[in-house]
Amino acid sequence: MMQLPQAGTSWETLKAALIDAKRGDLDWRRGRLPLYVYWRDEALHRVAEEAYQLYFIENGLGRKAFPSVKKLERDVIEMALGLFGAGEGAGGSFTAGGTESIFQAVKTARDRARAGRPALRAPKIVIPYSAHPAFNKAAHYLALDVVRTPLDRAFRADVAALEAAIDDDTVMIAGSAPAFPHGAFDPIAQLGEIAGKRGVWLHVDACVGGFLAPFARELGHPIPPFDFRVPGVTSLSADLHKYGFAAKGASLILFRDADLQRFQRFEFGDWPRGRYSTDTFLGTRPGAPVAAAWAVLNFLGRQGYVDIARTIMDAKARLARGIEAIEGLRVVPPSELSFLLYGSSDPAVDIAAVAEGMTARGWFVGVSVEPPAIHLMLNPVHAPIIDEYLADLAGSVTEARRTRRTGTVDQRTY
Ligand SMILES: *Cc1c(COP(=O)(O)O)cnc(C)c1O
Repeated sequence: MMQLPQAGTSWETLKAALIDAKRGDLDWRRGRLPLYVYWRDEALHRVAEEAYQLYFIENGLGRKAFPSVKKLERDVIEMALGLFGAGEGAGGSFTAGGTESIFQAVKTARDRARAGRPALRAPKIVIPYSAHPAFNKAAHYLALDVVRTPLDRAFRADVAALEAAIDDDTVMIAGSAPAFPHGAFDPIAQLGEIAGKRGVWLHVDACVGGFLAPFARELGHPIPPFDFRVPGVTSLSADLHKYGFAAKGASLILFRDADLQRFQRFEFGDWPRGRYSTDTFLGTRPGAPVAAAWAVLNFLGRQGYVDIARTIMDAKARLARGIEAIEGLRVVPPSELSFLLYGSSDPAVDIAAVAEGMTARGWFVGVSVEPPAIHLMLNPVHAPIIDEYLADLAGSVTEARRTRRTGTVDQRTY
């Protein structure tokens, strides 16, 4: 077991050790990762990194000490509210990630329901089967029940099934824009109608799609309505540290009505140090991801994001065509936005064996369970490596046909 060393070591030595330690990691710069990393180029990297360093010390908990962090946060929230079509009176909070944003949404919905419905016994949330595990994590921490309802044949929320599961204990329903497992947009407009009719909170999980979908739409890609322009949407989560291209530790929880945020806030005074109040889960909060997100949003602007969306969507189209051209493979619809799932169209090609072949060729492979498929999310680092990927894929398929061995791929991507 490693012990804290008695004496210190020079930074030079330590820096070399850290750089060396990365050598076994996958080469994300060469597009080997289909998730975890969102990257365009050195210029954008430098903006995020330098902004991050400028706010390395500042603590977002100290709102009076660091009014600048508060102001940067406000700017980021307002830019996002505008992007997602929120009107007057909307609000939001900067969080450490999608999981925290979803936690805040669930917590706020629960506490609002508790305040308005004294008869509430066993509060629950009703979400599609494809919703992110963060909903269950939040419900677990908050002692809520979760009902996951079936998907339709296009892997979207089955609206009738979801509506049928709503009862007097339901404090929230949710849909994803899009959902991670299949890259499928849930029918948010229909969910909004149900939310309005039943008077229930609707959260839209746009964690992955939020900072890509509006720009893909501008390019003419068919993106269904999913944001505050849809009546009935109460809250929305969008990750800056995914397609916002900000530094990690950056997401937003947004509310149609800022007044709902009083159910989000935690206030406490029963200790010797007096009043303590936070809007989100964290206490001490790094200022750095706020500054980095602010800088990246302003550096790219709408045009920069549209250009990124074009790069991603064009790369995806090339990859999809290449996959369809390999005998024995097929793209699994809907695979919307930057998502691309592909599976086997031939019993002689076992997709798990193909995944194994790709892994052996140095690609990190995400595997979906239902349906069995290889699961990718593209970002600009993939644009230059599509041909290389397709060549390795063709090789892996040939090999899978030859060996006819059933691969044993670890399905736990995380
Ligand atoms: C990534 C993701 C989340 C969770 O976000 P983290 O930043 O990993 O906590 C939630 N929902 C969807 C759809 C996601 O893709």
